[in-house]
Amino acid sequence: MGILARLRALERATRPYDPEFVAAMARRWAELPDAVRTPGQIIGQHGVGCEGTHGVFPRCNLKCTPCYHSRDANQVRVDGPHSREQVAAQMRLLRILRGPRAHAQLIGGEVSLLPPDDHAAALEIMHAQGREPMSFTHGDFDYDHLERLALRDDGERRFARLSFAAHFDKFMYGRRGIERPPGELALNPYRKRFADMFARLRREHGVRYFLAHNMTVTPGNLDEIADVVRECRTMGYGMFSFQPAAFLGDERRWKEPYREATADAVWAEIGRGAGRPLGYGVFQNGDVRCNRTAYGFYAGRRWYPFLEEDDPRDLAVRDAFFRYFGKVSFTGTPPAVLAAKMARVVARHPSTVVIAVRWLARTAGRVGVPRLVRNRFRVRPVTFVMHRFMDAEVVGPAWEMMRRGEPAGEPALREAQERLAACQYSMAHPEDGTVVPACVQHAVLDPAENAQLRTLLPLVEVRAPSVRRPDGQEE
Ligand code: SF4
Repeated sequence: MGILARLRALERATRPYDPEFVAAMARRWAELPDAVRTPGQIIGQHGVGCEGTHGVFPRCNLKCTPCYHSRDANQVRVDGPHSREQVAAQMRLLRILRGPRAHAQLIGGEVSLLPPDDHAAALEIMHAQGREPMSFTHGDFDYDHLERLALRDDGERRFARLSFAAHFDKFMYGRRGIERPPGELALNPYRKRFADMFARLRREHGVRYFLAHNMTVTPGNLDEIADVVRECRTMGYGMFSFQPAAFLGDERRWKEPYREATADAVWAEIGRGAGRPLGYGVFQNGDVRCNRTAYGFYAGRRWYPFLEEDDPRDLAVRDAFFRYFGKVSFTGTPPAVLAAKMARVVARHPSTVVIAVRWLARTAGRVGVPRLVRNRFRVRPVTFVMHRFMDAEVVGPAWEMMRRGEPAGEPALREAQERLAACQYSMAHPEDGTVVPACVQHAVLDPAENAQLRTLLPLVEVRAPSVRRPDGQEE
């Protein structure tokens, strides 16, 4: 390639805005209910929302209470070719309907039950469709599995970066070494062990990573949240996500009056762990009754938000971010290319430099220079999230009415319809070309889907050959 052709290719690759991504965001914005088209709404202003797979590997080898998968899920065989084929079909549809870039969760049962090559193939398929994948796991696997996922047979890196969300809470039974955790803190060595595997992978093979820590919250562990945040904040997790338990999925595993752990109570406990109340008014992902998010960073032991929700100057920074950088797709863009795109935006809009410098000075002032110096100006970005699934008993009827075009009159069903209409977490159905909220997937569609998969991919019972004992009995 000649120099001119190279320069042209470079110019194209670093264009700040991809018209297809911009159009996909505009579509999403237009679909949102008026009530959630707020100045801080991320959907339609800096992304299209999150996506997830379903029915691609339904089985899991731990037992959680509650479990959002239907009762048949554990009767379905893990099957690499099925996973690859389904992931490909679902991602293709998401690419068509939701545009060229999005975060997508490789989720279903337990991802580490897939052989590493099949897991890697699924991630490659997701990348090929412009999805930035995150693998969901209970975290109970060994370094060997992670290394085989990250590297090819010849030892070359398959991925420059891996993202995992690891679920740890004391209502998960069967984890190796701690079958029935007595409390959340007893799980900390396991949380650390998981994060340490990625630090080792980076050290030994240069694979970068992002880790999210997921935890289901019930009245039974509500008052342990703060300790988990405090004690795990330096382990390497870039996100702590809490899911108040819902009456969803396998009803045999519903054990407590879940809704007593209210959204406000859970959020207050996360804030107690972070050392300050957390605002969730700066940015929204869909409907705040579903999602609360606080973006910020640790400087030493203290957490600070990037933007204070009660400071109009910070809200103006948010607005400027959406105006100038909102249409730049950060998702899946290599750091150097992203930096070049942003530099081109800055060159076009030099006022962004002034906004950024003032924000930086204000934020440094909040943290305090002595603290920054003590920590050698090192800060660790950490996001706090609460995602609150809805109960199956409201999702089912609310969804049925939506399909008939009927607005609900009953307040609980109306709330469910509003939240479903603003859903931030979607799953694709290639068989009929639709995309549905994950609540609908789990509450309405999973049971029939898993019953079908159970027939398609039955568990194969492997029986050891019988041995005749000296007494003549077989064992
Ligand atoms: S999956 Fe359910 S709880 Fe989550 S954003 Fe969508 S509607 Fe809200």
